[in-house]
Amino acid sequence: MKANYLGVRTDRQNFEKKFIKNASGCWNWIASMNSKGYGGFRYNKIWQGAHRVSWMLYVGVIPIGLAVLHKCNSKSCVNPDHLYVGTISDNTKDSVRAGTHHPGATISKSDVVCILRMLRDRIPQWLIAWTYKISASQVSRINTRSSWVDVSIKDAI
Ligand SMILES: [Zn+2]
Repeated sequence: MKANYLGVRTDRQNFEKKFIKNASGCWNWIASMNSKGYGGFRYNKIWQGAHRVSWMLYVGVIPIGLAVLHKCNSKSCVNPDHLYVGTISDNTKDSVRAGTHHPGATISKSDVVCILRMLRDRIPQWLIAWTYKISASQVSRINTRSSWVDVSIKDAI
């Protein structure tokens, strides 16, 4: 476990050398970029979007099937405060999530594990509700462990 812990610290230190904070609060990526203008960073041995790595380093788990998106419209920005998780598009959502997350549909056990982790990571309950297209009271019941009591945050997603 110690090696993992040190590995994470090193990733974060490397990450923080690769952006510059500007006056509007954006953390503009100055290292490798792809052709679409998104930064790239090697994390967990995989080359991936720098904004996604930022979310994992500073916020937490990215729920399966969801994308990390920009509130600030700057693709090269990696400030976690300017990022949120959501669906890329309805088309993508439909293919990736196979129709299991439409309004009125029940969420799955793996969703609940994700939601528990998001709650642990202090993601606002309204954002979780919006992400999963469920009501705020459903999120609240998961938070207070009055529903889905058989699911643990440590369960596999
Ligand atoms: Zn920004």
